[in-house]
Amino acid sequence: MTVTRLDVSAASEHMLAGVRALGTEEIALEDALGRVLARDVVSPVSLPPWNNASMDGFAVHAEDVRGASSVRPVHLAVTSTIAAGAHSPREVCRGEAARIMTGAPLPPGPDTVIRVEDTDGGESVVTILDDRDAERNIRLLGEDVRADQVVMRVGTLLGAAHVGVLASVGCAAPVVHRRPRVAILATGDELVELDRFSEVMTGARIVSSNSYALAAAVMQAGGEPVSLGIAPDDPVALARCLRAAEGCDLVLTSGGVSVGDFDYTRSVVETLGGTLSLWRVRMRPGAPLGFGTLFGSPWLGLPGNPVSALVTFELFGRPLVRSLAGHARPHRRTIAVTLGDAVRLGAPLTHFLRVVLEGDDGRGLPIARLTGAQSSGMLTSMSSADALLVVPPSPQDVPAGATLRALVLDGDIGGSARFLE
Ligand code: AMP
Ligand code: MG
Repeated sequence: MTVTRLDVSAASEHMLAGVRALGTEEIALEDALGRVLARDVVSPVSLPPWNNASMDGFAVHAEDVRGASSVRPVHLAVTSTIAAGAHSPREVCRGEAARIMTGAPLPPGPDTVIRVEDTDGGESVVTILDDRDAERNIRLLGEDVRADQVVMRVGTLLGAAHVGVLASVGCAAPVVHRRPRVAILATGDELVELDRFSEVMTGARIVSSNSYALAAAVMQAGGEPVSLGIAPDDPVALARCLRAAEGCDLVLTSGGVSVGDFDYTRSVVETLGGTLSLWRVRMRPGAPLGFGTLFGSPWLGLPGNPVSALVTFELFGRPLVRSLAGHARPHRRTIAVTLGDAVRLGAPLTHFLRVVLEGDDGRGLPIARLTGAQSSGMLTSMSSADALLVVPPSPQDVPAGATLRALVLDGDIGGSARFLE
């Protein structure tokens, strides 16, 4: 059965309902950036591994320096110098000080490191000129990580800091979810790849920009694009091209999914044993959208118009890729913005308008201005956009100054578990 004309949230829920994270693999930490952790990581060590100085200075007993000031300096005998790589420093007794470097193990005895700026830096006798550091500037063993503690949980998206934490606890080969392999097939007799650009120059063809843009978008989402090239608008040839998608984790097609005379994508998917479980979404751009399964994997039939293809990939394709890759929060977050220009909708559908975000409206919200004409064929309206402005189906006239939500098209910070939240 095919459901049609769902609104965007219901369509998103429908598509993600059956999607589970892919299996796991162990990879080198050097390759882990952008992957999603599939197993908790337990630290075998405490961090820091010893009490150590958080400042360059002098390790002393607090009781010896209390009351010290430039008018009442305290003098202590310097009995040793401890470098960051030192081991088993000797005890420092009352009345003594050890010169100590940041990160160096604290010697037995002291409970204080006086920063070097509050001393005269003396060689054999040091003069303490301030007591503000009494009982301070010591990092305690295990205050960051305790041995046997879970330092990172399943589902964590690995960024640079996570890679650093994993390195510091000795995790050289984290277990992560497999990266989804995403088949991408463009359809259309009018299309060529870049090696045939001379036909574009003679006015006979256009470049299949979707092939390139979708491959890039898949990579950005954390997937591995598998290009199946361009299929002509012919059911037999289209079926032959689509067969190559078998074994991929997600199938993306672009074009041929609408009601034109040569739109064969839906029927060919069904001929190949696939299903069409959803068709058409109450949105613009991107209304003629298909979704189902093919060769046991989800199939997303994107519209051919370049803006529609990218907007619908953004809303539905990216969350599919990220869910397969193990993300618990596969959607981009939305933010509140102030509308810079009045908007009139051409139809009572959820619109996703391409906007730049500039400045501040005086209440702390960015101002969203349209990137220009919003035709779904104008790809430059997308390339200059910072965000997709979400305009609900009604009212159809939205005045400048209204507060709306926008999907920010950059970065992974603060992903959202729910659609358009
Ligand atoms: P379709 O969805 O096949 O009806 O195509 C709608 C519009 O998008 C037509 O103007 C196509 O030429 C264009 N189009 C379809 N596929 C692509 C593609 N891969 N790259 C660029 N434009 C495309
Ligand atoms: Mg077409």
